Amino acid sequence: MLTDRFNRRINYLRISVTDRCNLKCKYCVDGKFPFMPHSEILSYEEIIRFVRVCSELGIRKIRLTGGEPLLRKGIEFLIKEISSIERIEDVSLTTNGVLLEERIYELKQAGLKRVNISLDTLRRERFKYITGFDEIDKVVNGIEKALEAGLKPVKINTVIMRDINDDEVLEFVSLAKNLEVDVRFIEFMPFGEAGFWDEKRVVTSEFLEKYISEFFELEPDLNSDKGPAVVYKIKGGRGRLGFISPLSSHICSECNRIRLTSEGMIKPCLFSDVEYNLKERLRNGVTDKEITELVIKAVRDKPKDKEEHGQIKKCQRNLRHIGG
Ligand code: SAM
Repeated sequence: MLTDRFNRRINYLRISVTDRCNLKCKYCVDGKFPFMPHSEILSYEEIIRFVRVCSELGIRKIRLTGGEPLLRKGIEFLIKEISSIERIEDVSLTTNGVLLEERIYELKQAGLKRVNISLDTLRRERFKYITGFDEIDKVVNGIEKALEAGLKPVKINTVIMRDINDDEVLEFVSLAKNLEVDVRFIEFMPFGEAGFWDEKRVVTSEFLEKYISEFFELEPDLNSDKGPAVVYKIKGGRGRLGFISPLSSHICSECNRIRLTSEGMIKPCLFSDVEYNLKERLRNGVTDKEITELVIKAVRDKPKDKEEHGQIKKCQRNLRHIGG
C-alpha cells in the first residue's frame, strides 16, 4: 500500500496522455499554443510500464486526461492494456467531449468505466467565446451518448467564473436535476500561461452552495465516493451536484493521488512545481525496482497541503500539460 508521510493512502494516478487540445479554453491556455514534439510525450509502452509498476505498489484507479485525450491516436489500445493490468480496478477519462460521440462504443469496449466531460456553458456564442470553437453541439451529443452507453456516473465538470458564466449556475443545476448526470462545480484555479485568471473571477463553492440552496433543496450524499468533491443530491432530481474547492478549502487532507504529466514527469501535488523526471530515467534503462523507489519517494514528498508551498501562487504549468 502506498502511504505518504501524513498517512494518506495514495491509490489514484492521473495521466496526461497529450498536451494537444482541439479547444483553446481561455482559462487554460492563452494565444500561444505550442505543442510538444511527439517524441517528448511518453509512449504507450512507457505509460503502461509505469502503470504496471504503480499497480504493484497500490494504485487502483487511473484517469486519462490531457490536453484532449481523445486526440491521442489509439487511446483505446492504452485503455485496453491498462484495464487488463491485474489490480487496476477503474479506468476513467476526462474529455472536452468533442470527439466522444463517434468514439464512445470503442472506448467502452476497450474497458473505459466512466467519463467526465467538461462543459462551462450551455450557450452557443459563449461556448465559442470560452473555447474558441463552435463545437457545443458535439459536446452535448457526447454527453447524450455517454449516458446511452451507460458510462455511469457521467460527470460534467464546470468552472464557474464571475461575469463569464456565473449567470448559468441554476441552468447547470437544472441539468443535474433533469438528467442522470453529476454536475461538478470546480473553483477557477490560477494555472499556467493563461493571463485570464483573476481573483475577482473566482466564485467559491461556499458561495455557490448558498446561492443554489435558495432555489433547490440539497441534501448531502453520504454514499458518494470519497474524493475531493462535496456531493449533494437534489430533491426530486435524477443527478447530483458536486463542489470541488481547491482554492477555498482544505481538500488536501483527502488527497489520494499522484499525477504523470504528458512529457513524463511524476507530479506529487497539483499545487507544487516539484516534479520527478520519469521519462529521462525510462529512456536511460531504469529498472522496475528503481521506478518503484522513485514512486515511493514522490509519494513521501507529497506536501501536507497547498499552503506548504506558499500557495496559492500561480503554478508554472497549465493544466493542459499536467492534466486537470
Ligand atoms: N481536454 C480535457 C477536458 O477538457 O476535460 C481534459 C483536460 S482539461 C485541462 C481538464 C479539466 O481541467 C477541465 O475540466 C477544465 O475545465 C479544467 N481546468 C482547466 N484549467 C482550469 C483552471 N484554471 N481552473 C479550474 N479548472 C481548470
